[in-house]
Amino acid sequence: RDAARVTDAVKVYGSGDTAVRALDGVSVGFPAGRFTAIMGPSGSGKSTLMHCAAGLDTLTSGTARIGGTELGSLDDRRLTLLRRDRIGFVFQAFNLVPTLTVAENITLPMDLAGIKGSRDWIDALVDVVGLRDRLHHRPAELSGGQQQRVAVARAFAGQPEVVFADEPTGNLDSRSGEEVLNLLGRAVRQMDRTVVMVTHDPVAAAHADEVVFLADGRLVDRMESPTADRVL
Ligand code: ADP
Ligand code: ADP
Repeated sequence: RDAARVTDAVKVYGSGDTAVRALDGVSVGFPAGRFTAIMGPSGSGKSTLMHCAAGLDTLTSGTARIGGTELGSLDDRRLTLLRRDRIGFVFQAFNLVPTLTVAENITLPMDLAGIKGSRDWIDALVDVVGLRDRLHHRPAELSGGQQQRVAVARAFAGQPEVVFADEPTGNLDSRSGEEVLNLLGRAVRQMDRTVVMVTHDPVAAAHADEVVFLADGRLVDRMESPTADRVL
């Protein structure tokens, strides 16, 4: 079963002579319960694929689904609700709210939505990301790696069907990056979550169960159980 899937995805930015075909007929599924990495050179369409798969942007043609829901069939309001209730996001620039504590940042999306969330789940999550003794700190009091761990906890807090991570280690040193990647791997393997991660880093991609490779807006390869030297 695919947690997310795009079929015959085409994305054209602009029009006429300056049009850019960022996705040129991509069909790919992201299986539930797996950690999939999207790799490829700069400009190959990785971010565009993630944004369209996650309902942050719309395809020019083709379809994008989250579970059984086709995103093109939703109006803006329903699409916003779908992103809020069924998807988690981790971005390169942590995007925490500086005035809120760690605990408040983690539950913010649910608090805004008026959703209660499972106490036991959040409790387990706080332990997995190793933030128990930082819950009442503010983001500025944390290292970059700790801030990204908060962002990871926030992404999983509402038990979304899939978490999309766009270059989650891009702003981190290699040790903190490794911790965040281990965390994503543990969420998938121990907590039965689904993660789709965009990265250009082979070391990061080697943490995934599977890597799909883009080049010039097309899917050119897939690899199971990647290792950094095979991905390169
Ligand atoms: P990647 O994430 O692999 O670096 P992107 O998906 O960001 O690739 O970009 C794919 C192509 O689409 C590139 O040629 C990029 O310049 C172009 N592109 C991306 N976003 C936009 C945009 N908002 N407007 C115009 N062109 C864009
Ligand atoms: P709204 O229409 O309610 O303002 P948004 O488009 O801002 O909704 O985003 C809805 C969901 O998508 C949120 O859960 C948000 O976390 C996520 N999201 C969208 N774009 C970004 C972004 N650039 N950075 C972080 N999260 C984003």
